[in-house]
Amino acid sequence: MVHRYDALIIGAGGAGLMAALQLSSHGRVAAISKLYPTRSHTGAAQGGIGAALGNHEEDHWEWHMFDTVKGSDYLADQDAVEILCREAIETVYDLEHWGLPFSRTPEGKIAQRPFGGHTREFGKAPVRRSCYAADRTGHMILQTMYQQCLKNQVHFYDEYHVLDLLIEQGRCAGVVALCLATGELHTFHAKAVVFATGGCGRMFSVTSNAHALTGDGMGVVLRRGIPLEDMEFFQFHPTGIYKMGILLSEAARGEGSVLRNKNGERFMERYAPTLLDLAPRDMVSRAIYREIREGRGIGGKNYVHLDMTHLGREVLDMKLPDITDFVRTYLGIEPAKELIPVQPTAHYAMGGIPTDNDGRVVIDEKHTPLPGLYAAGETACVSVHGANRLGTNSLVDILVFGRRSGRHAARFIKENDLPPLSAKPEERSREIIARLLSSQGQERGADIRESLQNEMMDKASVFRDAGTLMAMREKLKEIRDRYANVKIEDRGAKYNTQLLEIFELGILIDLADVLVEGALARQESRGAHSREDFPKRDDANFLKHTLAYLGPRGIQLAYKPVTVTRFEPKERKY
Ligand SMILES: Cc1cc2nc3c(=O)[nH]c(=O)nc-3n(C[C@H](O)[C@H](O)[C@H](O)COP(=O)(O)OP(=O)(O)OC[C@H]3O[C@@H](n4cnc5c(N)ncnc54)[C@H](O)[C@@H]3O)c2cc1C
Repeated sequence: MVHRYDALIIGAGGAGLMAALQLSSHGRVAAISKLYPTRSHTGAAQGGIGAALGNHEEDHWEWHMFDTVKGSDYLADQDAVEILCREAIETVYDLEHWGLPFSRTPEGKIAQRPFGGHTREFGKAPVRRSCYAADRTGHMILQTMYQQCLKNQVHFYDEYHVLDLLIEQGRCAGVVALCLATGELHTFHAKAVVFATGGCGRMFSVTSNAHALTGDGMGVVLRRGIPLEDMEFFQFHPTGIYKMGILLSEAARGEGSVLRNKNGERFMERYAPTLLDLAPRDMVSRAIYREIREGRGIGGKNYVHLDMTHLGREVLDMKLPDITDFVRTYLGIEPAKELIPVQPTAHYAMGGIPTDNDGRVVIDEKHTPLPGLYAAGETACVSVHGANRLGTNSLVDILVFGRRSGRHAARFIKENDLPPLSAKPEERSREIIARLLSSQGQERGADIRESLQNEMMDKASVFRDAGTLMAMREKLKEIRDRYANVKIEDRGAKYNTQLLEIFELGILIDLADVLVEGALARQESRGAHSREDFPKRDDANFLKHTLAYLGPRGIQLAYKPVTVTRFEPKERKY
């Protein structure tokens, strides 16, 4: 079945909905999502969206820019960061005008709170920059954007799983998707496609990411010869619920919670004397693991405590209602009275599909765009987060660059006709499905996924070195062999979620390969990439972005320079 549109948006989280909304008045637009749109992971975002509104105290986009560049360990492209921080302000006001119910200051302005790494006067002290709707900011963004898209006649294909990207004569020509309800393949033929398929945290065993975050968009384009950028940088958020990974937002620390070791010591005083518990996530996660390694974890286990007991009922109920509920529900702990066990949890992919500042996917070191193909949100790498993202900057990124990609795509569809389409666009997807369904193997997909996640957690997470990464490379070979021998019990067409989970697992394996190869080659420590055998940042050799291609001989790496405009790289101290 072939559908024709001017533009397609793949993914209906914040980035996809914003791009769809921009395009909606310029042509026929469809949003394709494997989840029902309001179940997209943007809805899980808790703490807030960063913008220098200055509602409580003086603030400027230049300070926001400095913090973002420093937070990125100087790997972010500074022209893109400038756009992010300038356009954050109008974006938040747009959300307000579309009806987003932000929390308010007593005088009725949008309320703001401190967040990790966000400072005033270029690092002097924390600043209140995160605009929030209690601890449900992402939920409110998603609902608001979805309503706007419905109002503006975006056509939704819910529970359609994209399996392949179509490229014809050097132009993006559409995608192929499987309809979950029927098992049928559908070809979507379009002038422009925006990938907004979110992150890939399910590569690790302890993660804040939902089951669906398997990096499909990244994997699908990688298999079509498009590189991925900076995938070795994966953020671990310091405060996941112990063993479960469920996130307790940095908003908790923004409101005054502190981390304590087994002696009750506020250990961040030793690691970041100025910003303390509000230092950037890479530093706090490493500090937690150092405490644990040096014997100051709680009860000799892999966790420390988050202490909210001094915040008072009103703050917990009014500003952190969801996360305090999580603690009560999942741990049976009363956060107003007891300490909460936390450990770092895999949270955010800084890397992704390389784009320019208009969301156009670029396919090489010379920034050559692939006409008609765009990416935005967590699946993309602009790069505004470099080696480490600051909290609140993803919600800005998805909306600012979701909008820019939508706007550029709107111009593109006006100026271009539909590209040609091959006679059998679904052939490759059909082959993948047929191969999986006819497999006579013995391996359970769930077991392979568990091995992948445990090994990645053990060998390629917060700390790495050549030994652990080489061991992971070998493990991935084993995991690939097992995947070739995977068995599928459900051979039916309708609602075959097992088939799709195994497809997702194949993508996670490809992405793990990319991460490991990029991490092995990057012989330095920068942001979230911490090599114990190369503990220092090495600007002379590695102030550059990694591009990873999937070729016939596995992953091939290339590099491209970082754009530095206002802030020369310096040592990062907080
Ligand atoms: C618990 C949690 C709390 C967070 N809190 C904050 C915060 O306070 N502030 C902040 O800035 N950031 C926060 N983040 C990060 C931020 O929420 C995400 O990075 C961001 O929302 C990602 O948005 P997105 O639009 O790129 O992707 P998503 O919202 O993840 O949407 C992805 C979409 O792609 C679709 N999709 C995926 N694969 C396919 C496929 N194969 N075919 C079809 N559709 C597909 C999905 O159905 C979905 O609609 C948080 C993240 C988590 C996990």
